[in-house]
Amino acid sequence: MKEKNKEEVRRFTEMVAQKQGWVLSQDTALYEDLVTGLMVNWNRYGYFLCPCRDSEGSREKDQPIICPCIYARPDIQEYGHCFCSLYWSEDFARSGKSPQGIPDRHVEG
Ligand code: SF4
Repeated sequence: MKEKNKEEVRRFTEMVAQKQGWVLSQDTALYEDLVTGLMVNWNRYGYFLCPCRDSEGSREKDQPIICPCIYARPDIQEYGHCFCSLYWSEDFARSGKSPQGIPDRHVEG
């Protein structure tokens, strides 16, 4: 598995945001932390495990929380950003609000 560097991970997040019609976190320090987290996870697990959740032990079990996770769309719709606040809606970015802690749909059951 070829290791990824931060630039490659940034490009991945830009591609996802563009494809989904989302925008990247406007908090640049947070954005860089999340990019680092994604890079570390890729280089450790071989897939983009969500940078703010723990692995459940296998790629199969982690499937719902591989970025962009299956919860991103409903979270962005409901709260304006995903659980980690990596991806925001355009409306949320325009609002000037800061992301808040939101419930993790992955542990709700
Ligand atoms: S919450 Fe979902 S979309 Fe956001 S960084 Fe984690 S896996 Fe990616």
